[in-house]
Amino acid sequence: MKYSSTRGGCSGQGFEDVLLTGLAPDGGLFVPDELPSFKAADLAELKDLAYPELAFRIAAPFTGTAFAAEELRRIIADSYAGFPQPGVAPLTALGDNEYVLELFHGPTLAFKDFALQVLGRMLDHVLARGGARALILGATSGDTGSAALEGCRHSRRVDICILHPHGKVSEVQRKQMTTVAGDNVHNLAVEGNFDDCQRLVKAAFADQSFLPAGRRLAAVNSINWARIVMQIVYYFHAALRLGAPQPAVSFSVPTGNFGDIYAGYLARAMGLPVERLVVATNENDILHRLISANEYSTAPLRHTLSPSMDILVSSNFERYLFDLFDRDHEALAAFMAAGAGGGASLSDEQWRRMRGIFDSASVDDAATRATIAKVWRDHGVLLDPHTAVGVRAAREVRAGQENPCQTPMVCLATAHPAKFAEAITAAGLPAPALPARMRRQFERPERFRVIDRDLDELKAFLGAIAG
Ligand SMILES: *Cc1c(COP(=O)(O)O)cnc(C)c1O
Repeated sequence: MKYSSTRGGCSGQGFEDVLLTGLAPDGGLFVPDELPSFKAADLAELKDLAYPELAFRIAAPFTGTAFAAEELRRIIADSYAGFPQPGVAPLTALGDNEYVLELFHGPTLAFKDFALQVLGRMLDHVLARGGARALILGATSGDTGSAALEGCRHSRRVDICILHPHGKVSEVQRKQMTTVAGDNVHNLAVEGNFDDCQRLVKAAFADQSFLPAGRRLAAVNSINWARIVMQIVYYFHAALRLGAPQPAVSFSVPTGNFGDIYAGYLARAMGLPVERLVVATNENDILHRLISANEYSTAPLRHTLSPSMDILVSSNFERYLFDLFDRDHEALAAFMAAGAGGGASLSDEQWRRMRGIFDSASVDDAATRATIAKVWRDHGVLLDPHTAVGVRAAREVRAGQENPCQTPMVCLATAHPAKFAEAITAAGLPAPALPARMRRQFERPERFRVIDRDLDELKAFLGAIAG
């Protein structure tokens, strides 16, 4: 399997290259030149597999020759050994053919563990082969940071530095990052918002003069291709549990950087019968405005009850647009530039194609609180605010359909409610208890440094830890 950049300046890369590079050298995102395809008979064969073996079957075609089969199997088995067995991703029925897919049983209680537990191990294997070391640099608006630090803290060949917006992540999220043990683990709190953090990371990747010779810079934010691959798996898992290849299933996905739902789009493109994909956004609704009104323009950032979805522009969306523009990188670049300026629109044909797959809804904080309270009252299921955005969006979309209950609707539950106690109490419910494992971790001292949103300050810090 070969990978090319969405900006047209880089092609013919192997999985090993995209694993270690993140952003392509031309500033684009890597996408595979083709996708593996699963027919009905292939799906029937996957039906009874345990989660790790299913993950192996999905990931293997994407990794190509980067790992021997048994090496990849072991990486994946080790990655999911820390999840409760056998329910790595339990599916809870709410009635009316509506389901919640619980993706929050990993070490940091959020879905990002599914990818980052694997990524840390893949990196260590690849680096060990060349006797190399890497510096991992990432930006987080919440859950990525802790999941990345947990995925890499045991790694012997990796230093990891995570930027988060100072004072703009929940207390639980901050402590989950700053109490992670390990001399190779570094936290920076940036005076700014998440997009400032993301911009700094992009700038550091573009100017790597601070790195010692031979050291590699690697990305773990949601543009990393390996993460996307591991997120495809639970779409297959859920659909298979509900009977795939029949019936077709719809998914509602709380969306920020479009990594998670893009994995659902890929699952569909690989042959999984997926009927609709619901892009569920909070009030940062650039994607909802595009899907519902063909208007692509940035709006001021809002801080909401679902901070991991507080974004101006969704970085992975470029990967989907690349397909929508039939891999024409110049047309794509023009659209992105116009969107960042005054605003852009798709052609009627493109917009129709997009709406042939995606629905969308934007859910404000009041509706998020009301959904948390209602689902608790009706079903005894406690949703975190991100998941509540997804459930509410699914219900709004279904309310406009003729036979809303005909197709199973799977809502991805992206975080454990205990991570967002403020939102739960704002919904009028008692704060959920943190799991004991997490309470013990929080007794450790916090370690982080505050920096300005200044590239030189970042480069000086990175040069010192990598030196
Ligand atoms: C990261 C995250 C999201 C958004 O996922 P994207 O892949 O960025 O769209 C949603 N919910 C939670 C809890 C998250 O941590």
